[in-house]
Amino acid sequence: MLPFIRSDLDKLRAYKPHPGSNTSQSIDRLDTNESPYNLPSELKQKLAWTYQEVIESNRYPDAGHDELKAKIAEYVNQSAHTNITGANISVGNGSDEIIRSVLIATCVGNEGSILVANPTFGVYAIFAQTLGIPVVSVERSPINFEMDLAAAQNAITQTQHPAIRVVFVVHPNSPTGNALTTDELVWLQSLPEHILVVIDEAYFEFSQNTVVSQLAARPNWLVLRTFSKAFRLAAHRVGYAIGHPEIIAALEKIRLPYNLPTFSIAAALVALQHQQLLLNVIPHLIAERVKLTHNLAQHPSLQVWESAANFIYLRLKTDFPQSVDLLHLIHEQLQASGTLVRHISGGLRITVGSPEENQRTLNHLQAALSPLIPIS
Ligand SMILES: *Cc1c(COP(=O)(O)O)cnc(C)c1O
Repeated sequence: MLPFIRSDLDKLRAYKPHPGSNTSQSIDRLDTNESPYNLPSELKQKLAWTYQEVIESNRYPDAGHDELKAKIAEYVNQSAHTNITGANISVGNGSDEIIRSVLIATCVGNEGSILVANPTFGVYAIFAQTLGIPVVSVERSPINFEMDLAAAQNAITQTQHPAIRVVFVVHPNSPTGNALTTDELVWLQSLPEHILVVIDEAYFEFSQNTVVSQLAARPNWLVLRTFSKAFRLAAHRVGYAIGHPEIIAALEKIRLPYNLPTFSIAAALVALQHQQLLLNVIPHLIAERVKLTHNLAQHPSLQVWESAANFIYLRLKTDFPQSVDLLHLIHEQLQASGTLVRHISGGLRITVGSPEENQRTLNHLQAALSPLIPIS
């Protein structure tokens, strides 16, 4: 490695969420939990008009995001009967950027470790490692993916030099699709105020389950949301944090001044303005998820979990001795047949797509599994 590069980076690999994914029409990209639906053409036209007539490409973007923050606050308040304002919001180049800002604002310089419960969203640990921040992991139940709260509490009390400063949870969790339980929420509420609790609600629009109404009473909680999933704007990279104005002020100090391109700000504003049009497909996607879950669960070789999001997690039943290797083969065969899914933590995470994509998922998975079915 180059002699001027930090030696701990040697162990890390660049983040490539979907190897083999491309823009080919014949591939079902069900590995990154995007919406299967593009922005409707009338909204694209509106954005194209904005680009043509309003945006000055020679000018830097709005560095304060004031209008977007105000509109996001309105949207958040609709869902939770809260009094969130722009002072409670920080906007990032995807919520990924905010995750990194959180880590920089809390733990960098040997000031803190983070706690995650695996399997969960890998970005928290990956970004922490790139910043030299220690990651403490506890397990989830292999039956229902609830966090091992005894182990988590133990990690909080035992971890030193540096102590745990941030706990990251996803609500509902990725890859497993389960929402936080009452016990988990009670445990998060019990954490002392010197520990930041980050609750990532990337899939809120699918779960309709949010902790936002608790934020007023909890200055050490931060909620993350994104426009990348239900709002169909993954290409534009817009995410946001909701929290106490002092946490928000710290995040604002750390973010890059012009972190969001003007066109992305415009896209997020259009999406919020037309939220009903964009979000009205969600009941259909949920109905598709229910149907796909049911159909997959019929297969004798599969264990399939209920999900509160727009993806489904499954594993091979444990009576197959080499189930992990088999899963690798199945994943490869799915990819060869044109269905991209995530192979993660000994299971497959499959995004709910259009009805046609979901039918192909079933067919391709059935074909990949057929050698496993005992011949009668
Ligand atoms: C998809 C996803 C995000 C969104 O990231 P962006 O950077 O906003 O695209 C954040 N958290 C979780 C758990 C996700 O699955």
